Amino acid sequence: RIDPALSVPDSGDVARWWPQPGPDSDKYTRGVVGIATGSATYPGAALLGVSGALAGPVGMVRYAGSAHAEVVRAHPSVVAAPRVADTGRVQAWVCGSGLGTDDEARTTLRSVLATSLPVVLDADALTMLIDGKHAEDLRRDAPMVLTPHDGEFKRLAGEAPGSDRVGAALKLAAWTNAVVLLKGDRTIVATPAGEALVNPSGTSALATAGSGDVLAGLLGSLLAAGLPPEQAAAAAAYVHGLAGRRAAADGPVTAPDIAAALRPTVRDLTSEL
Ligand code: AMP
Ligand code: MG
Repeated sequence: RIDPALSVPDSGDVARWWPQPGPDSDKYTRGVVGIATGSATYPGAALLGVSGALAGPVGMVRYAGSAHAEVVRAHPSVVAAPRVADTGRVQAWVCGSGLGTDDEARTTLRSVLATSLPVVLDADALTMLIDGKHAEDLRRDAPMVLTPHDGEFKRLAGEAPGSDRVGAALKLAAWTNAVVLLKGDRTIVATPAGEALVNPSGTSALATAGSGDVLAGLLGSLLAAGLPPEQAAAAAAYVHGLAGRRAAADGPVTAPDIAAALRPTVRDLTSEL
């Protein structure tokens, strides 16, 4: 197995990977990400995912779901619709947090998985995957990134990650044929091909409600802008950690603080180039 200590990304790696617009870019060629998260019960998950996506490199963020009115009120640049099926072209989808697991949520997940686009599956999308009705959809050609915390990992894999977290993430990645971003103090990115990265930038300031929703949105934005899934996952975890540290300098951190800190974090990181 690859020694994870050899595969830790640093600021230089992430800055080089970060997509930058050129003179010929337009809002579509920069990438369009679709966020299919949140529900009437959890509109905050939608707002946080969209905030994360807006801090990424895409030229447009679309939202699909029942929080569409709240999303547009908070973020006027987002193009929003009630359903995935009503959404215009995107290059990647983020599906999961705050979605619930009712029939509407299942339809959302199925619509996203039926596309041939890269997808990020988080939270409730992971729960719906394994309770039977969507497991067959794991065999997709397009890249997938699964972003479980330990509880979600245990539901998916049938056992907790245990002490060999890199090994556990690699096993789940091989089984699902997806890139697995196993969240934690040192978040791990594992690929189906057997490579693993360990994120060095984490901070316990990230342990706050909605933090993962921001991460998933940012990750989707990087995928939509064309980064390979393992780089998108590693870059998102890295910048999310730095943003948590930056936000913590001002006091106790909430998820909107992390989202707000993403933009200056990316600016500082990429201006070192
Ligand atoms: P979620 O549980 O989905 O909101 O995601 C939590 C986020 O916070 C993930 O990015 C975790 O890696 C991060 N996180 C949670 N607890 C810690 C911790 N003790 N140290 C560092 N990062 C953490
Ligand atoms: Mg979460």
